[in-house]
Amino acid sequence: MGVIPFRNEPFTDFSQEGNRTAFEKALKKVESQLGQEYPLIIGGEEVRTDKKITSINPSNMDQVIGTVSKADQDLAERAIQSAAETFETWKRVSPHARARILYKAAAILRRKKHEFSAWLVYEAGKSWPEADADTAEAIDFMEYYGREMVRLAEATELTRLPGEDNEQYYIPLGVGIVIPPWNFPLAIMVGMTTSSVVAGNTVVLKPASNTTVIAAQFVKILHEAGLPKGVVNYLPGPGGEVGEYLVKHPLARYIAFTGSREVGLRINELAAKPAPGQKWIKRVIAEMGGKNSIIVDKEADLDEAAANIVKSAYGFSGQKCSACSRAIVHTDVYDEMLEKVTELIKQMKVGEAKTLGIDLGPVTDESSMNKILDYIETGKKEGRLVAGGGKAEGNGYFIQPTLFADVDPKARIAQEEIFGPVLAFIKARDFDHALEIANNTEYGLTGAVFSRNRANLEKAREEYHVGNLYFNRKGTGALVGAHPFGGFNMSGTDTKAGGPEYLLLLTQAKLVSESL
Ligand code: GLU
Repeated sequence: MGVIPFRNEPFTDFSQEGNRTAFEKALKKVESQLGQEYPLIIGGEEVRTDKKITSINPSNMDQVIGTVSKADQDLAERAIQSAAETFETWKRVSPHARARILYKAAAILRRKKHEFSAWLVYEAGKSWPEADADTAEAIDFMEYYGREMVRLAEATELTRLPGEDNEQYYIPLGVGIVIPPWNFPLAIMVGMTTSSVVAGNTVVLKPASNTTVIAAQFVKILHEAGLPKGVVNYLPGPGGEVGEYLVKHPLARYIAFTGSREVGLRINELAAKPAPGQKWIKRVIAEMGGKNSIIVDKEADLDEAAANIVKSAYGFSGQKCSACSRAIVHTDVYDEMLEKVTELIKQMKVGEAKTLGIDLGPVTDESSMNKILDYIETGKKEGRLVAGGGKAEGNGYFIQPTLFADVDPKARIAQEEIFGPVLAFIKARDFDHALEIANNTEYGLTGAVFSRNRANLEKAREEYHVGNLYFNRKGTGALVGAHPFGGFNMSGTDTKAGGPEYLLLLTQAKLVSESL
């Protein structure tokens, strides 16, 4: 193999002045490009519509990030036809050549790293380090899936029979409808799109409506890297009209979705019903919500636990499906833990994402903000408010880091995904009780345990039913290749993004047996 083994893209150290200056420069450059218009891309052609989606800066509601053409059903039909036609040629391109396009796109993105992170600061409201991690993960996905496709292209070892030549190949599925989320608008969008493409599929990409501009910027990179026209069709549009049309379409072979439980289940239901003329059972790859807990045992490093609870609960204002929204704490250390976490929250700064040093930027939009504020009101009835409790200052969607203590494990704020900076403290009698509480939701995405007790860690390894279980570390920040990501139960189809089985979801195995 001509490429070096996969390595994770390093994060930028913003304590270095040179890095800070370079990032400031990228922010200025992107600021000078705000407010532009972006067309749809169908079959490689730019298509402009009268109706537009306006993307705004959640840190500053008066700042327009860009105006993007908005697709309707006719354009969705064109996009899916273009993807279906292109599939006939793209599927014949060798896996190695497809992988090289990903390596090239990764190289271009690496050169423009801070610029893309700056787009994430403006459009998604990510702090510098969160934006930097999002861009690094996007690079990782391309480097990783390129290598994974090359590995998968090698013939599978099968049982040999005398007088027979047997081989199994992984061939692409067809047209994929890719519907990524706004919370990792670069990393997850890139991961879902480029894994599809490297596996030989063609794509209709319907980016999240809050983060259309960053997706448009990335589609440009794919074409610059040599991706043929029509392999990825960029089609922002309303979920109800355009998304559902695509999901129901007989030419859609699979749907790759990351987002809410509600939308994921709706997609699953729509995709299950065959449309007239449809020749296959559609595959649904869904990564949905979480209601994730961190357990703190009585034998644990409490300072470490507090710091990591705070990172997991409030990083990117809690808008990660991996975010911790429940701290389940052993009764013996409960009061001390509560105090430590409260102290850390008091030091947190909320502000515009472009300011280096803020801990929490805004939440994504008004409806998210209202939903979170409603949950905070519910929390005031269900628990004891210890920190935060409402909106924070500024011309954006800012919410204070909020903490409720003494929450019942069955309370709404302990069961429903809030997707905001709201944490519930729950008291456990002992370690078994903590595990029982941790498993009591319908989700099963991430979980963490802080304990120095080996037997308890072993018990958690067996009993804690989540796709990503972490010991003595935070519950967010899964790294491609190291922590394949995806959950159980209502958290999705256990997709394990960034892991060695992911491309199997996007391919089908063909066995050829020849009698000699
Ligand atoms: N993979 C991310 C993490 O480990 C979360 C992805 C998501 O929020 O969808 O934090």
